[in-house]
Parts: sequence; structure tokens; C-alpha cells
Amino acid sequence: MQISFSLQGKVALVTGGNGGIGRSIALGYKAMGATVIATGRNPDKNAAVAQELGHGHEVISLDVRDEGAVDQAVAAIAERHGRFDILVNNAGIARRTDILDMETADWHAVIDTHLNGGFYCAKAASKAMVNAGNGGKIINIGSMYSILGPPNVTNYAAAKAGLLGLTRGLAVELAVHNIQVNALLPGWHKTDINRDLLDGPLGEEIRHKTPARRLGTADDLAGGAIFLASDAAEFVTGTMLIVDGGYSIMDRQWKD
Ligand code: NDP
Repeated sequence: MQISFSLQGKVALVTGGNGGIGRSIALGYKAMGATVIATGRNPDKNAAVAQELGHGHEVISLDVRDEGAVDQAVAAIAERHGRFDILVNNAGIARRTDILDMETADWHAVIDTHLNGGFYCAKAASKAMVNAGNGGKIINIGSMYSILGPPNVTNYAAAKAGLLGLTRGLAVELAVHNIQVNALLPGWHKTDINRDLLDGPLGEEIRHKTPARRLGTADDLAGGAIFLASDAAEFVTGTMLIVDGGYSIMDRQWKD
């Protein structure tokens, strides 16, 4: 029996790869042998991760809400490298507001980034994968809020639940091209998206509802993302992998 978690020779695009979870996945893929293309918008973060990724890898400035720019970037990557194997739809934002006060702009901003951006990237990547003829992997970064009911982020929950539908639809359609599509669902991992919350009292509250008794880190997602991108996951498609230290299956808080 042969099982391979290696990503040697694979070309991987990680959106939002210049920080947080995307950066950890990008560095994890590099460690497993992939050629990594990370994207982001912030020039300072882009420069920092370019330094970490080093020679042979790329960081490109890309806004996932811009369909034309996504199409161009993906086509250029496939052209430059002669293949396109892995897409991680990771770019994301949060706009936290009670539904009674939620501005339509905050709804659109979140849906545009996660769901529309995810669709643009998945469509472009699918075409590149089918053209290259080597199969491929698409990993959509959902959230435990793809399945739970969170307060103050209805826009985010709707976008992340939508990503599960995108995952299943793509998995069914693309299986014939040997492309597997799965969702990776993080729990609470301290990054720029939630640092303000987790550094406050909520951090301790969350920790007390997490069986692992700690908050997640960005690096906690790298292992699952490597598995789902590897040949070892060839028969895994249309499903979701929750990485949350047990948060979503806990029904009460533990006491110190
Ligand atoms: P970060 O804020 O650290 O990272 C978000 C990344 O997305 C950054 O690289 C940012 O780059 C990029 N980004 C945001 N908007 C765009 C855009 N329009 N186009 C391109 N890139 C964009 O947060 P996380 O690392 O935590 O988030 C990564 C993913 O994980 C998100 O999808 C998030 O929803 C998800 N997630 C995170 C959880 C957590 O606890 N941290 C829990 C559940 C899910 P730049 O700053 O340059 O724009």
C-alpha cells in the first residue's frame, strides 16, 4: 500500500495567504514540496510572506472580489508553471453587527469576499485544472459558523454556509475530472480577524467551552489543509473537516 501526503511538484494558490491561517497553509504546503502562490492585498503583509516563502514561490496582489483579476491571475499562474493543482479559497473578512443594525454594505462586503470571491477563484481554478489534465484539489475555508448559529455575524454565517453548498456542487461536477473539493472548518483561532475579541473576556469564555482547553492557532489548520491537498485524500470529496479543538461538539463549559 502507498499513501502520500507529499505535495512535491504541485502548484498551489492560497488566497489570503499573506497572513493568519492562509500564511500557515502556504508555509505548510511549501514544507510539503509544493510551489506556492500566495495572494493578499496589503503590500507590507505581501512582502513579509514573500520573504518567508523565499525563492521559487510567489506572492501576488489580488482582490478576490475582482472576477477579471482572478481570471487573469489564475490563467497566468497556469501558463507560467504549466499546471495548476491546488486552490485554497481562504481570503476572508468579518463585519460584526446585530441584524437589526446591519448595513446592506456590510452584508455585501462579506458575501462578496467569501462566497462570490470563492466562486470566481473556484471557477477559474477548475478551468485551469481541467485544461492541465492532472486532476486537482479545491479546499474552501468555511467556519464552524458554516453549521452553527452565531450572534452578530449573519452575513458571515450565510457566506460560510454558502461555501458548503459551493463545495458539494463543485465536488459532484468536478469528480469526473479527478478534482476533489472539500471544506475545512476552523473553530476559534487567534488571528487578525478576531484578535480584538479573543484578547478580551470572550477569549476565556471560548477557552472554557473548548475541550482542548486552549484557543486554536493559525498553524492548527495546516495539517488538515495538507491532507485535503494530498494524494492521500483522493477518495475524499464533498465533505468537511472541522478543526476546532472540539468546540462544536461541546455542550457546556468546563470549570478550572
Ligand atoms: P486574517 O484576517 O488573518 O486573514 C484574512 C486574509 O484574507 C488576509 O490575508 C487578507 O489579506 C485576505 N483578504 C481579505 N479580503 C480579501 C480580498 N478581498 N481579496 C484578497 N484577499 C483578501 O484572518 P484568518 O487567517 O483568521 O482568516 C482566514 C480564513 O479563515 C477566512 O476565510 C476566515 O473567515 C476563516 N476563519 C477563521 C477563523 C478564525 O478563528 N481565525 C474561524 C473560522 C474561519 P489582506 O489583509 O492583504 O487583504
